[in-house]
Amino acid sequence: MPSVMASVTETKTSAPAALLADLRRIVGDAWVLSDPDDLLLYEYDGSVDRALPDAVVFPDTTAQVQAIVQSGLRHGVPVVARGAGTGLSGGAIARCGGIVVATSRMNRILEVDTRNRRAVVEPGVVNADLSAHTHRFGFHYAPDPSSQYACTLGGNIATNAGGPHTLLYGVTTNHVLGIEFVTMDGRVVTTSALPDGPGYDLTGLFCGSEGTFGIVTRAVVQLVHTPAGVRTLLASFDSVPACSAAVSGIVAAGIVPAAVEMMDQLALEAVAAFIPRANLPVDAAAVLLLDVDGVPAELNDREAEIRDVLLANEARDIRVAQNDAERNLFWLGRKSAFGAMGRISPDYYVQDGVIPRTTIAYVLDEIRRISRSFELPIANVFHAGDGNLHPLLLFDNRVPGELDRVLDAGTAILQVCVDVGGMLSGEHGIGMEKQAAMPLVYGPDDLDAMRRVQQVFDPHALFNPNKILPAPVGCAEVNNLRRSASETSA
Ligand SMILES: Cc1cc2nc3c(=O)[nH]c(=O)nc-3n(C[C@H](O)[C@H](O)[C@H](O)COP(=O)(O)OP(=O)(O)OC[C@H]3O[C@@H](n4cnc5c(N)ncnc54)[C@H](O)[C@@H]3O)c2cc1C
Repeated sequence: MPSVMASVTETKTSAPAALLADLRRIVGDAWVLSDPDDLLLYEYDGSVDRALPDAVVFPDTTAQVQAIVQSGLRHGVPVVARGAGTGLSGGAIARCGGIVVATSRMNRILEVDTRNRRAVVEPGVVNADLSAHTHRFGFHYAPDPSSQYACTLGGNIATNAGGPHTLLYGVTTNHVLGIEFVTMDGRVVTTSALPDGPGYDLTGLFCGSEGTFGIVTRAVVQLVHTPAGVRTLLASFDSVPACSAAVSGIVAAGIVPAAVEMMDQLALEAVAAFIPRANLPVDAAAVLLLDVDGVPAELNDREAEIRDVLLANEARDIRVAQNDAERNLFWLGRKSAFGAMGRISPDYYVQDGVIPRTTIAYVLDEIRRISRSFELPIANVFHAGDGNLHPLLLFDNRVPGELDRVLDAGTAILQVCVDVGGMLSGEHGIGMEKQAAMPLVYGPDDLDAMRRVQQVFDPHALFNPNKILPAPVGCAEVNNLRRSASETSA
């Protein structure tokens, strides 16, 4: 996670003693934090923003979440759900102060139903723990964010998380069958977990709503069979355009690997310094890491098809993982890439844009141009198969003004993504990081329509206020409006 911190809370409420007394009565003294030193740990996520909450509370049951939400409404303070805080867009930050509802105690896998290929989980279950638990039955949970050893399923649902293997299997929304959530007035709503039920797809609507509609307290998720065989290839290239062309070549050939990840030379340098035993080709301009899933009898054919495309696009070397240990090492390198930046830079800022796959070479070239003109090294490590870029802007936050330059460079990259027909975020969400960029792709009518949907769920802006949509008013106004609404309804 980056060690940088940027903007500070706009305006926050202060926790009234009555609110703290309420919270302590609901969950017990041990599960409420209000000491300023303790709150500091909850003022940030994986992004560059920060803001102090008034209290952090750790419920253990849905009933406790209901009571907490009702208390927040009664006292007119915001309620912000928090999973593991690995989010990269400021989603779990209590921007307008209020209560952070941390789900870490609600981490039970309640049921595994292999006949129907589904599991019932609480929101605080760590993503990788679900797969670790279900492997013994021959199943796993497919969406695998690179943060999967820390991030929670509740956070994944709220951000509609992706991951390397979502190229073949689909993102979170494709794997969440139903949810239970607590509404603004403290009711519990359960959406149908049956496929293709009539009526609106509330489950789908919740995926990616970033905690602004309600708090997910339970989810029914789909499990997939663990593939009988996996082939992992690491292909090196002497040029970034050739590597990029190989990505669109694979897709154009009708091949759908389980994962196609790309790392450029700077990213390789950082990862190699972090995991020397992976023996990565640090002199390559870029590499592709590919997984092909299937029955063992088919894997040779799949590998041969992919090799043809890689070689046709000037791959200079193709390594095939010889066993699980080597495969895991390749993937450890990829999944540790963000953290590995610490080996080559004091700080980094991750941008997250999605672009048409055929434009990868052009956009990476533009990123190189931006890197030069802003005088900032930029490493690229990303879900190439999905066209989901993650430029990592390397800098030193101790240098005055550096962060502003980084954020400007990040905006310039986002503009390039939009210009080629891409989107503001591939998977990290909008949070408070990219609100201001929303008008780059949405007109006033679109934003108004989204705001009206949000108000259906949360007319008092109780849940995670001033996130996603450009804020028409600041936190002070939002908090005042909520307080007067709660006084009127009291
Ligand atoms: C090293 C690293 C690698 C990453 N790789 C990926 C990746 O490959 N793919 C990807 O998609 N993301 C990735 N991320 C981003 C992040 O891990 C995901 O966004 C993840 O889904 C966040 O989960 P979390 O539990 O940490 O949620 P948090 O950061 O705690 O919260 C994220 C959002 O979810 C909301 N939320 C949390 N719990 C609930 C709930 N129970 N009900 C309602 N709303 C809730 C919060 O309010 C917030 O808006 C990465 C992050 C890091 C640091």
